[in-house]
Amino acid sequence: MNIHEYQGKEILRSYGVSVPVGKPAFSVEEAANVAKELDSKVIVVKAQIHAGGRGKAGGVKIAKSIDEVKNYAKELLGKVLVTKQTGPEGKKVNRLLVETGCKIKKELYLSFTVDRTTAQTVMIGSEAGGMEIEEVASSTPEKILKEYIDPFIGLAPFQARRMAFRLNIEPALVNKAAALMMGLYRVFVDKDCSLAETNPFVLTEDGNVMALDIKLNFDDSALYRHKDITELRDESEEDSKEREAAALGLNYVNLGGNVACMVNGAGLAMATVDIIKHYGGEPANFLDVGGQGSAEDDAKAFKIMTEDGQAKGIFVNIFGGINKCDIIAEGIIEANKMLDLKIPIVVRLDGTNVKEGREILRKANIPNVIMVESMTEGAKKVVELVKDA
Ligand code: ADP
Ligand code: MG
Repeated sequence: MNIHEYQGKEILRSYGVSVPVGKPAFSVEEAANVAKELDSKVIVVKAQIHAGGRGKAGGVKIAKSIDEVKNYAKELLGKVLVTKQTGPEGKKVNRLLVETGCKIKKELYLSFTVDRTTAQTVMIGSEAGGMEIEEVASSTPEKILKEYIDPFIGLAPFQARRMAFRLNIEPALVNKAAALMMGLYRVFVDKDCSLAETNPFVLTEDGNVMALDIKLNFDDSALYRHKDITELRDESEEDSKEREAAALGLNYVNLGGNVACMVNGAGLAMATVDIIKHYGGEPANFLDVGGQGSAEDDAKAFKIMTEDGQAKGIFVNIFGGINKCDIIAEGIIEANKMLDLKIPIVVRLDGTNVKEGREILRKANIPNVIMVESMTEGAKKVVELVKDA
């Protein structure tokens, strides 16, 4: 789960990490009121969307008067902002952050994430902050610095200071920079983040170290113990179908092609996507029905996969374990009735209750349901069928 920058800054503030003073605004009037309250010569008006790259796309405005704040707020609210991270369709701006502008001496990068190879949290720093860090990492990897963190000890103060020195932060500001790192690390651990990134954090003309931008991603599997974070959810920023699927305990991912894939388990999902590609097809999405669920849940899953009309065929690739092939078969029949599906449904069932499952489908004798014996056969078949569609 993601949250907005202003929400992230409030969390940072509560952990003693220095961030600019500011507040969210949902209207031009509110933006003007916040600006008046701030009483600062330079006010920054920032579009709040769940995507970075706003600066380069015109989503971060520097205002020198209340009138300018109003004009920028008018311009940004309701605008669809297209940044490098939003995709071509962009994201609509419904909220702003109005905050004090700071005099930046230097912009740097800092983040915490989990490194799967070492199974440790890694702190990543770079002097090349404020720009697209992915580009820095691929063209000049030597500018990316890392500190691996022992999970039992946590981020040691000497590691934070070492990072600060390696980032060539002037000695007088090393302790302030280290404090920012320690604070952000505590947020990362306490809140079960999968990513805590500040790009940029800055050294200011008046000798401060501050997080000017913050991105916090939370591990969905740990949200049950963070009610305060769950309350920050902005549903208008999320894919409505992914949300619908999540409410049913299903994982849905949109992929843009024309073959919908219904699978169980992440491994089988990847393998199914791969084999469809291998035979020249393009997956529209995959929906992982996981380990349990009723026939009605499965029918709802079909609805999510097909309702936008993008899918020209469905590949059901299920290896029954905890969830049983006969339940899936009933789900297919239920879905077909409920949704009046006209597109071909290629079904490969294996595992628990496979005989019963196949028998149910055979008896139902639905013209657009095609049963296959193997995953390979199924992939070939569905790719062939959507080509003619
Ligand atoms: P994004 O990453 O989406 O482009 P940022 O919050 O990083 O958005 O802002 C982009 C740039 O705008 C920053 O690199 C910084 O130079 C400038 N900026 C952002 N907030 C402030 C602020 N409060 N004061 C001064 N400059 C700012
Ligand atoms: Mg940024």
